[in-house]
Amino acid sequence: KFGINQALKDLGLRVDDVNNGTSTGKNWFSSGDVIESYSPVDGALIGKVKATTEEDYNKVIETAADAFKTWRSMPSPQRGEIVRKFNDELRRLKEPLGKLVSYEMGKSYQEGLGEVQEMIDICDFAVGLSRQLHGLTMHSERPGHRMYEQYHPLGIVGIISAFNFPVAVWAWNTALAWVCGDVCVWKGSEKTPLTSVACQNIAARVFDEAGLPEGISCLITGDYVVGSLLTNDERVPLISATGSIRMGKIVAQAVAGRLGKSLLELGGNNAIIVTPDANIKNTVIGAVFGAVGTCGQRCTSTRRLIVHEDVYDKVKEAVVDAYKQLRIGNPLDENNHVGPLIDKDAVKHYQAALDKVVKEGGKIIVEGGVLEGEGYESGCYVKPAIAEAENSYEIVQHETFAPVLYLMKYSGDLENALALQNGVKQGLSSAIMTNNLREAERFLSVEGSDCGIANVNIGTSGAEIGGAFGGEKETGGGRESGSDAWKIYMRRQTNTINYTTELPLAQGIKFDL
Ligand code: NAD
Repeated sequence: KFGINQALKDLGLRVDDVNNGTSTGKNWFSSGDVIESYSPVDGALIGKVKATTEEDYNKVIETAADAFKTWRSMPSPQRGEIVRKFNDELRRLKEPLGKLVSYEMGKSYQEGLGEVQEMIDICDFAVGLSRQLHGLTMHSERPGHRMYEQYHPLGIVGIISAFNFPVAVWAWNTALAWVCGDVCVWKGSEKTPLTSVACQNIAARVFDEAGLPEGISCLITGDYVVGSLLTNDERVPLISATGSIRMGKIVAQAVAGRLGKSLLELGGNNAIIVTPDANIKNTVIGAVFGAVGTCGQRCTSTRRLIVHEDVYDKVKEAVVDAYKQLRIGNPLDENNHVGPLIDKDAVKHYQAALDKVVKEGGKIIVEGGVLEGEGYESGCYVKPAIAEAENSYEIVQHETFAPVLYLMKYSGDLENALALQNGVKQGLSSAIMTNNLREAERFLSVEGSDCGIANVNIGTSGAEIGGAFGGEKETGGGRESGSDAWKIYMRRQTNTINYTTELPLAQGIKFDL
């Protein structure tokens, strides 16, 4: 259906194996329970994969640890060259992989292709980075001494990823970790196991063809039980975990308990502030795409729209009008704006959020609801909804991972809008729509947005790979992707070299023997 079998074949997966749960791959050992993958697009069973058992897991880690010994000694520009070859494969397979992402996760085909493009972009970035893993040199206080710092690979990096970006988050981590000399063990989401298997096969083929050990890229499959094998494993110095705040709190404690490093990319509660000086047309595009794109299932989706009272009615009317034009349906059909939620559990959470906002005193201004009938057989298609609400409502304080937008009003100064925006526990993405320089700069100042991402005149949703990506407070504080995010994948070493015939001690200490 929708050319999915062809996409699986193009990706090197045998359709029979996918149907029977007998797929195998290099350094993906799995002999446990069967995980079934249903498409939210049409409710069909796409295929099955087997979960990783504890015994399989130990084999994976041993293979990874072995591979590290080879990979860490390869000069990083040569590691970059392997990432470039991997990237050539991604470019070649962009369409089938984008299609599988779209069908298994439910995002639009354009967004599926966009996700693969993000993988391509981060690989390009990583290739350049492979020649720029710079440390600093310092002036020693001791004569005849030289000081500098250098970065060495860490070892095995554990990557835990969420269903909503089933392939890009892996690439953000793995492309950087690879050029840094690490080997990676990836536990993708149990809701999107086939995209993980497809990616692992691409990587394994590239390493194999280059004559490199298979353990540089490893996959484990399964749910939180398999994930917790990684988080509790002392052989894995860094865990990069993307997902809910609930998961992040458990993972952070497990990793901290063994004094490992963690990179956490957790939930957001992102707001756009709309001031009287905003361009209303652009505000509507940014807000509506931000709220309904990927059916509200992006960590950077717009959850709250905080509008000044002077333009409140105008913005409200324009956004409500725009919602009337939304076409909801099969995300592989490019005419549709909004695809399905990931599964029926997500639909229940969406319905519960709408009930709760009403109970707390909110007013629904664009009705939600679950769609039924032809084209909606999966039971995962819902209507994007808008509720007028107060920031203090419990439901507004939590991330609603669905297309529900909370609209609220502020009066007076920008300070009041900032208090609302920052008045939640999460701190991922934020935006202001204004043509007023003073407002824009205040928003970006130390007294402004407390989020990891703060945008002016673009929405909250989406990010480019060139910047460091991540958020503050309960979003977890991690940064991945561009800028100097690579540093977390390496261990820093400070080196002091004495090239004299004496041994002067630091701080002028005398120690005569
Ligand atoms: P989730 O927390 O349910 O699952 C995420 C991953 O964590 C899955 O692979 C899951 O198996 C694993 N996991 C869950 N509990 C675990 C445990 N105790 N030990 C080890 N692993 C465990 O999240 P989800 O529903 O897949 O994704 C949606 C959430 O992810 C949203 O909150 C969204 O905001 C967040 N997210 C954040 C970012 C970001 O970069 N900040 C990006 C994408 C998604």
